[in-house]
Amino acid sequence: MKQYPSNSKEVAIIGAGLVGCLAALNLAKLGYLVTIFEYRSDPRTIQDHQNLRSINLAISERGIAALQNIDLDLSKRILDQIVPMKGRLIHSAPNSSRSITYAQNYGVNGIECINSIDRNLLNIKLLNEIDTVPTIFAQFNRKLVNLIFPNEDQNDNANPILYFQSTTNQDSSSQNNILKRHDNFNFLIGADGSYSTTRSLLQKHIRMDFKQEYIDMAYLELFISSNPTHNTDSNSRFKLDKNYLHIWPRENFMLIALPNYDGSFTSTFFAPWHIMNSLNSNEEIISFFQTNFPDVLNSNLISQESLLNFFNSNPKSSLICTICNPYNYKGKCLLIGDAAHSMVPFYGQGMNCGFEDVRILSNLIIKNQFDIHDAFEEYTESRHRDLISILQLAKDNYKEMSSNVNSSIHLLSKRLDNG
Ligand code: FAD
Repeated sequence: MKQYPSNSKEVAIIGAGLVGCLAALNLAKLGYLVTIFEYRSDPRTIQDHQNLRSINLAISERGIAALQNIDLDLSKRILDQIVPMKGRLIHSAPNSSRSITYAQNYGVNGIECINSIDRNLLNIKLLNEIDTVPTIFAQFNRKLVNLIFPNEDQNDNANPILYFQSTTNQDSSSQNNILKRHDNFNFLIGADGSYSTTRSLLQKHIRMDFKQEYIDMAYLELFISSNPTHNTDSNSRFKLDKNYLHIWPRENFMLIALPNYDGSFTSTFFAPWHIMNSLNSNEEIISFFQTNFPDVLNSNLISQESLLNFFNSNPKSSLICTICNPYNYKGKCLLIGDAAHSMVPFYGQGMNCGFEDVRILSNLIIKNQFDIHDAFEEYTESRHRDLISILQLAKDNYKEMSSNVNSSIHLLSKRLDNG
């Protein structure tokens, strides 16, 4: 994408997560002066990364195209530590006739991949890119708390008024915590995630349809360390085949593992809340894993001690789906990313879709010759159907991952049994 000259319009982006950062880079490229406000501290200054969501993500063509739409070199820098996964590797249930692993490639040629990337690393790389752009200003520890559209009926050109509160410990109990008012932004982009404040505030101004649904499923993050006895061969750093998304499907619960660049795997255990909550003693946790995932413990992918540690210290989190419509208020405010459409993670498309939001918005701004009102209106109109479809595909894919993938194993094991 070519660099557009400055158009001296100012934009506020709420949320410096993955999607907000990408939006900042793209809008700066289009010539806007961008300020990005983030409620949390700069992740690059946080010593203890335990408090950050450390899930790794699968980035697919959809997300990569959005990075490339900004700049090919930027995309290469951001993606230099991805690990390509050419398919799923299914670890069969221990009570099937024999314990097997079974590969299901994503494409017939074996070259079609999704790519594993560490979420924190991706966020930090995007923030590092932001630091190199003089027309983007990042403000951390700033929480959007109020949003007003003045003279709504009379004056379409009036800027929105945004109020922020400081979230630093020093400021919150002192005079500095008074609301900071900004009326210099021509429009704002809400990229503040599933529990978006921008969305809640916007709902006071427009007739927005909104649906929120919790899925009866919890997730807990586990970790498979790299192989301590690896030789110079870089593949031997990995305790499992690094080029697959590993799945241990067990009908109504499952374990998955995605490779990290350093040889470790980030693993996630998904189960309905009643199962997750029933695992509340060390004996129950070990016995559950011995019964359902014996290879994980027996081949020391995860030691018993580490497993207990993860169960006792990592959060058990819920999964939420949100749908809203419209996404914009005139040419003043637009919701993107999880703020507009949070989906269950089973299709690996939440962030990818958020990145695609940014690419589509950018193309519509250019197509509408920088008329933001028309670009936002066209965005809402053209994007909604696609987003509804992908939210449904994401829900459906849980059954595919946790259960349907087994059917091919059963067929294969039957064939093996028959000689
Ligand atoms: P977020 O990442 O939630 O960022 C929002 C930001 O806004 C945060 O930094 C927050 O602090 C800030 N904020 C919130 N409120 C305010 C406020 N009032 N003022 C200022 N700042 C504020 N997606 C994929 O594409 N592939 C995957 O493989 C994948 N796997 C996943 C696995 C799991 C277990 C989960 C839970 C999700 C997964 N996703 C995946 C989805 C992906 O994580 C999200 O879609 C993505 O993080 C959304 O990015 P975002 O920037 O829109 O929101």
